[in-house]
Amino acid sequence: MRRILIVLVVGALVLAAAWGLASLPGRLTLELGRTTVETSTPIAALALLIVIVLVTLVIRLLGALLRTPRAIGRMRGARRLRLGEIAVNRTLVALAAGERGGARREAARARRLLGDTPQTLLLAAEAGRAGGREDEAETAYRRLAERQDAAFLGYRGLLRQAIAREDWAEAATLARQAEAAHPGAAWLREERSRLAIRAGNWAEALDLVDAPAPKAALGIGAALAETDPTRALRLARDAWRRDKALAPAALTYAARLRLAGKDKRAQAVLREAWQLRPHPDIAAAFLAPVTDKLARAKAVQDLTRDNPNHPESRLLAARTALDAGLTGEARHQAEEARTAGMNGRRLWLLLAEIEEEERGDTEEGRRAQRDALRQAASADPDEGWRCTACHSPHAAWHPACPTCGTPGSLVWTATAPVTGTALPAVA
Ligand SMILES: [Zn+2]
Repeated sequence: MRRILIVLVVGALVLAAAWGLASLPGRLTLELGRTTVETSTPIAALALLIVIVLVTLVIRLLGALLRTPRAIGRMRGARRLRLGEIAVNRTLVALAAGERGGARREAARARRLLGDTPQTLLLAAEAGRAGGREDEAETAYRRLAERQDAAFLGYRGLLRQAIAREDWAEAATLARQAEAAHPGAAWLREERSRLAIRAGNWAEALDLVDAPAPKAALGIGAALAETDPTRALRLARDAWRRDKALAPAALTYAARLRLAGKDKRAQAVLREAWQLRPHPDIAAAFLAPVTDKLARAKAVQDLTRDNPNHPESRLLAARTALDAGLTGEARHQAEEARTAGMNGRRLWLLLAEIEEEERGDTEEGRRAQRDALRQAASADPDEGWRCTACHSPHAAWHPACPTCGTPGSLVWTATAPVTGTALPAVA
């Protein structure tokens, strides 16, 4: 209704204007050079109107022609963006599906369409790695590392590559750069502690790990590597306090105490460790300052005073008694150890020695020795250091497993025989 009204009003106005124009009086003369044009006023007004309409149309057409390239550019940009996003999505899908070639192709396409953005560079790098093209990945990671807004992503990728090819020096440098680019990342902290453990940098690893269990082991490593005596003593003490039953902790602390002139305290630490969990190296360290054989047999009583009936205490007493020529006592202690359930190779070898010492080169002595040696051959395996993570045996204790790198994973347990049991602290 309203529209009809508007059309009627406009129509009336146009009619009125046309009637007014047609009823204009007089004539119009235009002289241009020698040409003279003469017409009535209504025709002249109509001609003027037509000219105005034509000029307006021409101006509009020119404007549209000038704007066309920009519009085409905008259209093309939108199309590239859309296709680029599709390529990004396809790369992600190909990566998730393990389609290595497809991922690389789509990542390259995304990069061509969208340019070098953190997103496309990271995708290109990840697709390169997945496709086994470490060189491609490295180039993309380096481009990322050069950008302020994505440097961490670049260093992270380069760090993972350095770890994969076991270039620990480069990895340590990259970890420091990544830390500077994005301080306090939890992932990086974990990687740095792993790197420190790999490199045997126990003090740094000690600062980086959180769990209480490996801290004692790492503390021992740090104390062994520390050159400053005061700091080394403090590190050894802290490690020992964290795990007093861990023989290497007591041995390291005792060794540092001795270096500091605190021999009595060192012996007390070793005695406490023996009470918690006897270990042959603790006995060796405890008896080291005593050279006289009879005095050593007596010192064993001091070391084992809190757990004299422990099989290890019995075995130790038997060993030192035999060395001191007290064969009767040696036999008594060895038999007691056997009664207490010990059936280790060490015990049977010692019994063979006792037989040899006591009965000498007689028929009876030789038979008893043979029996003991036969028993030794089928006895329980001796105890040794074994990793609780990868189960590999080790001749000596280490702060981290040399095979799998797990810190604090080595425990003293019955194991397949390995040569030597010396700890770094004693060696
Ligand atoms: Zn291991």
